[in-house]
Amino acid sequence: MIALSLAEIATVVGGQTYDIPDPAVSVTGSVVRDSREVVPGSLFVAFVGERVDGHDYAADVVAAGAVAVLASRPVGVPAIVVDDVQAALGALARHVVERLGATLVALTGSVGKTSSKDLLAQVLRRHAPTVWTPGSFNNEIGLPLTALSATDETRFLVLEMGARGIGHIRYLTGLTPPKIGLVLNVGTAHIGEFGGREQIAEAKGELVESLPADGAAVLNADDPLVRAMASRTKARVLLFGEAADADVRAENVRLTENGQPAFTLHTPSGCSDVTLRLYGEHHVSNALAAAAVAHELGMSVDEIALALSEAGTLSRWRMEVTERPDGVTIVNDAYNANPESMRAALRALVAMGKGRRTWAVLGHMAELGDEGLVEHDAVGRLAVRLNVSKLVAVGGREASWLQLGAYNEGSWGEESVHVSDAQAAIDLLRSELRAGDVVLVKASRSVGLEKVAAALLENH
Ligand code: ATP
Ligand code: MG
Repeated sequence: MIALSLAEIATVVGGQTYDIPDPAVSVTGSVVRDSREVVPGSLFVAFVGERVDGHDYAADVVAAGAVAVLASRPVGVPAIVVDDVQAALGALARHVVERLGATLVALTGSVGKTSSKDLLAQVLRRHAPTVWTPGSFNNEIGLPLTALSATDETRFLVLEMGARGIGHIRYLTGLTPPKIGLVLNVGTAHIGEFGGREQIAEAKGELVESLPADGAAVLNADDPLVRAMASRTKARVLLFGEAADADVRAENVRLTENGQPAFTLHTPSGCSDVTLRLYGEHHVSNALAAAAVAHELGMSVDEIALALSEAGTLSRWRMEVTERPDGVTIVNDAYNANPESMRAALRALVAMGKGRRTWAVLGHMAELGDEGLVEHDAVGRLAVRLNVSKLVAVGGREASWLQLGAYNEGSWGEESVHVSDAQAAIDLLRSELRAGDVVLVKASRSVGLEKVAAALLENH
């Protein structure tokens, strides 16, 4: 964080100081909510969670070097006490980003936020010091904590914003107002909570509504609901996608021999070839999104293309490809799943597995509300249409829908199996896999299918 004295922080958050011998002492380290991340100079933020109360760690974090605790009650060690710790954290983030010399870039979308954010961070950091959201730390707590990790050197601050309802993104942009806003897509993720795609578009579009007139709205030209957001912003609009009128676009999109997407990147300042090190054609869209922002921030097309071609995975369990010595390939995409990403991952599996036996080990897609049956059925059917060799549906009712879809699509009833849990999938795969097989493992976070990927990689 930029150095701020405890007195200044107390004023910014409207808090009362307790047990602070010298209010002129500054926070010089990070602002953290996890006691294990405290370093000398940190400010520790005490949240009361369902299982853990951060206040119980106050003495420990001060012993570990924290200069104070931001808390909702006095804790017997140096503390700034406020009524609402979350609101105070937000106010502090807002104060700090106003003093930063960095350009704020925020991105949202139904799917691909973390992938695009990781790509963008890897492109921008070649150009100038960049701070970005770790993992999917994209809510009202993760976002301010990320913003507070920026320093005086930071030139670009890249923030992932998640929306679970109307008004959520507006709240987040109020904490950390972006100059550049990127909207990736409007899909069906979390549709159960929103009510429909129009509502999702309404919620995601709050990002571009927040932008200043001298900012830029970077919009996906291939998604009609995102394109339509152009009318909701004062900022200049930059389009990316495969559409012919996109400012930043991909031409000649193809998959290389080993299934990695390649394309020619066109920007208003020229064109250059890109081969991604990531798997799945859906990453072309994510890469274009990153390229459009990087172009807007002054990077040359060659610099962008090189950075994209060298970018790897920063966040785990997203199309993580591992080759076993026995020639079995495991594709771990167990981080999360929704209908769009399931389709993209199945296509990637088939592209990578050309001429090889392919396995789709799939589980439940959460938060689909009334669409659940139809969407699981459709994924099962797609697996058959794409000629995936084997479908292993893992879990309860939704898994049976996956299998039923495959069965109803007809071609290979006995090639699809339904097993009750991850262990059963592991047992089945251990006995059935043979050299050359490619295995995709994917489901919503709560299913925990990364256990399957880990077990298949053990002792290899
Ligand atoms: P979350 O809401 O959980 O934070 P996210 O929007 O950050 O998700 P990612 O973590 O990047 O999304 O990706 C989630 C899943 O979607 C992964 O399985 C990934 O491979 C897949 N995916 C990423 N980008 C796209 C895309 N543009 N289209 C379809 N699927 C995608
Ligand atoms: Mg994410």
